Amino acid sequence: CGVFGIWAPGRDVARLTYFGLRALQHRGQDSAGIAVGDGQTVLVRKDLGLCGQIFSDADLAAMPGKVAVGHVRYGTSGARSWEAAQPHLSTIGDVIIALAHNGTLVNSDKLRLELIRLGVPFLSDTDSEVAAKLIGYFTEQTSHIREGIRNAMEMIEGGYAMALVRENALYAFRDPHGIRPLVLGKLDDDSWVVASETCALDIIGAKFQRQVRPGEVIRISDDGVVSEQAVEPRACATCIFEHVYFARPDSVVNGRSVYSMRYEMGRQLAREAPADVDLVIGVPDSGLPPAEGFAHELGLPFGEGLIKNRYVARTFIAPTQEMREMGVRMKLNALPDNVEGKRIVMVDDSIVRGTTSKQIVRMLKEAGAKEVHVRINCPEVKWPCFYGIDTAVQSQLISARKDPEEVCDFIGADSLAFLSLEGLLRSVPTDGYCDACYTGRYPVEIPPAFSAGKFL
Ligand code: 5GP
Ligand code: SF4
Ligand code: MG
Repeated sequence: CGVFGIWAPGRDVARLTYFGLRALQHRGQDSAGIAVGDGQTVLVRKDLGLCGQIFSDADLAAMPGKVAVGHVRYGTSGARSWEAAQPHLSTIGDVIIALAHNGTLVNSDKLRLELIRLGVPFLSDTDSEVAAKLIGYFTEQTSHIREGIRNAMEMIEGGYAMALVRENALYAFRDPHGIRPLVLGKLDDDSWVVASETCALDIIGAKFQRQVRPGEVIRISDDGVVSEQAVEPRACATCIFEHVYFARPDSVVNGRSVYSMRYEMGRQLAREAPADVDLVIGVPDSGLPPAEGFAHELGLPFGEGLIKNRYVARTFIAPTQEMREMGVRMKLNALPDNVEGKRIVMVDDSIVRGTTSKQIVRMLKEAGAKEVHVRINCPEVKWPCFYGIDTAVQSQLISARKDPEEVCDFIGADSLAFLSLEGLLRSVPTDGYCDACYTGRYPVEIPPAFSAGKFL
């Protein structure tokens, strides 16, 4: 998911949030929503679909206010429904808040039952609504939203980056491991912005200030910006898959663009698994920068071999295998002019189920490629993610069951190699990372009830 928040009295906060969400649309296409605080109350508008389809000019004009949050959803918990769309509104007593959440909570089922017992109603089955109601409940109990957020952060476990709006203030906070990303930016008139990625700051002309720290709560209101370490930070475990696949290449993390990291992954991959070929191609979009790096490292030509239809959303969202297979063909087509008669290296970001690679290899061969050598710029995905990326249950992860040679056979490639974990870590800034989908080393313990049926 993508989250965005803005505190900008005197500005059109709903419209600026809309622009921020457009820049974060790659982070989720299930639903989108905006919540505005106008000093008196909080108004939410959300729906299924892309934000460009949901919000008209008139809708945005009808949402005046000085503070807002927005969300684009990529469902990892709960069904794809209007009720599951965010921001989630929580009205308990006279406390009205709206919450936008990126990530997944691993213990929300237990907390939901406790809240239901306390008489708190639920509209959806999502973990995010549990977080919203939990914060609302504790805020009502303690009369302080700081206490509400702190109490909730002490209870919820998992990966989360959240932006919350009240009638007159914006709050932003991250889980104590910093699994999901969140950055703070500033407009030139002392307005403040938070967003999942810096590309959402760029679009509205905000300047990057810093990352929201793990376990930190930032409050932005008429009293300015106040930071509080609400819960003790734990070992830093930023999601490394953001750098491999999820984030936009023009986003910057620790002073380095995601593009430059992916380029470096490709160079590293070329050193680890070179190939004697005529052309290096990348699978658009996230395979392109590492393909460029791969070609550069070996002094090989880099060119376009696959053309992407830019009007089709990411394929992972499609629920059934049949739709997923259709999805790849709707999205990508081979370019025979460049690949015919050639030995090709095809670089892609990851193999999850193997569906995408299999179809692309076939497409390239049908377009006349003599050999197709697949290079993947991350290690084998062997473990499910429980912190906000939908990498399927373990039995569906092809590398959990097959070694690289068998996967190579399955996808019909002439050779296959994955970037090593060491090589991946060498290509990114030296933070602490979560790499559980490759190693099974989960930074936050997964309760058995939550992982039931998801491991082999
Ligand atoms: P596979 O077809 O092997 O199941 O999936 C791999 C392809 O899906 C890769 O091309 C990658 O770009 C994309 N992908 C990998 N993980 C995700 C994810 O979590 N979400 C989305 N939307 N796409 C993904
Ligand atoms: Fe990211 Fe993988 Fe960790 Fe999930 S398991 S948070 S995808 S690194
Ligand atoms: Mg892809």
